[in-house]
Order: sequence, then structure tokens, then C-alpha cells
Amino acid sequence: MSAVQRLRAEQLEPADRRLLDTAADYRGRAYTPYSNYQVGAALRTPEGKTYGGCNIENAAYGPTNCAERTAVFKAVSEGDRRFSAIAVVGGGAGFPYPCGVCRQVLSEFARPDLRVIMANLDTGEAVIATLADLLPFSFALEKGGL
Ligand SMILES: [Zn+2]
Repeated sequence: MSAVQRLRAEQLEPADRRLLDTAADYRGRAYTPYSNYQVGAALRTPEGKTYGGCNIENAAYGPTNCAERTAVFKAVSEGDRRFSAIAVVGGGAGFPYPCGVCRQVLSEFARPDLRVIMANLDTGEAVIATLADLLPFSFALEKGGL
């Protein structure tokens, strides 16, 4: 049974709301001259530290980096490798669901119960899921098979 929830962003609990607000701040720093699709992310550690990120595009497209990975790489490079939640915010239509690459990168450092809050700032709607909801049967060398 999936525990994925859909709700209004203003119904989020205060800690999630703060994380979402941080992600929204970082969204304002997005560098997106090609897609014009801005995304912000904010990671929370179990100790309550927060790392933000935005998507950063490149003329060669391939080097483009998503907001989620920007936040993860910032945190890891600062010595934090444990995370309890991530908020991802975007706009336009639908939700800013993390791409497959970001899901795999998150699974390298976060447990399957990582709280993932995804919000569309244009509609005010949010979805809460776990990393396991988004990436079941993730690849990891030490996990082995079924
Ligand atoms: Zn991504």
C-alpha cells in the first residue's frame, strides 16, 4: 500500500513548510536560459541542517545539473551524508518529480524512508512520498537481489 499523499502546500507541517520555503528561495537562483523551467531543492539532515540547490543548465545540455543533485553534492562536499527529507519545488504543469538520475543519487546517501516533498508553487499543490515510493528496487552493490 502506498502512503503517497497529495495535499495543499499550506497543509504541510511546519518543518516541511520551512523546507519548501528554502527550496523556493533556491529556485530563484536557477540558471535556466534553455528550458526556462526553474527548480529549487532543499535537503534536511537529521540534525536539522539544510542544504539548498537549484538547477543549472549548460549550452551543451549534457552538463546540466538538477536542483536535487546540486543540493546533495553541496551537502556531501561539506561532510553531511545523512538526510531525512528533501523538498523539491517547481511551477508550470504537474509536479517537479525528481528525475531518475536524481533518485539514484539520493538512494546513494538516503534511506528508503527519505521524506520527499514535491510542490508546484503555481498551483499550491504538494505531494509527499518516500524515496522507496519513487525508486523501488534501487541499485546498490551491497543490497544484492531479492
Ligand atoms: Zn534530476
